[in-house]
Amino acid sequence: MAARSSDTRLDCYRSRRDFRKSPEPSGSEAACRVRKDRNPIFVIHEHRASSHHFDVRLEVDGVLKSWAVPKGPSTDTRERRLAVLTEDHPLDYADFEGVIPQDEYGGGAVVVWDAGPYRNIKTGDDGETVEMARAVEMGTVEVWLEGKKLRGGYALVRTNMRGDPDNWLLIKMDDEGADARRKPARTQPESVLSGKTLDDLEAQESDD
Ligand code: MN
Repeated sequence: MAARSSDTRLDCYRSRRDFRKSPEPSGSEAACRVRKDRNPIFVIHEHRASSHHFDVRLEVDGVLKSWAVPKGPSTDTRERRLAVLTEDHPLDYADFEGVIPQDEYGGGAVVVWDAGPYRNIKTGDDGETVEMARAVEMGTVEVWLEGKKLRGGYALVRTNMRGDPDNWLLIKMDDEGADARRKPARTQPESVLSGKTLDDLEAQESDD
């Protein structure tokens, strides 16, 4: 996909932010280039904004498709976690962690809670892989995550709950990565990038 169409997809992202005040990346043209030389990446940010949540992001055609998951991902196949589709984020957001000023959009601390490559495992009735963009459009995404905290298959399913098509569910698929006893969203708060927690970032910010 051309850089210009990536750019249009980031209009919403950019319009909500003032990059003179927020440390978040503005998403350059180069950052939106579709990369075919490696597997696509996923990243999960933990974000203590006005309400605490996790942002699950999947690289699709040069941008990060994003869902806000209030309770965070689970490794228990019986859990169905609300995942609200939000605006596309630039690819270079994958490495972002820091503190967004309180009076800005999404103000609060952000850490890279998990990250790694992923594989698209969604197949159609014919057994062929369904392209990611198409899977998102259809509202049935299935990916295999190779993260540090999360591994294995996860499904994202559009539900139309409360009449809102942005309300999806995040569900752990049944495989070797499933474990009903682990509660990683609660017990493993450290950034996989820096080892820091949201508390560490906030304490650091107030020292500055
Ligand atoms: Mn967020």
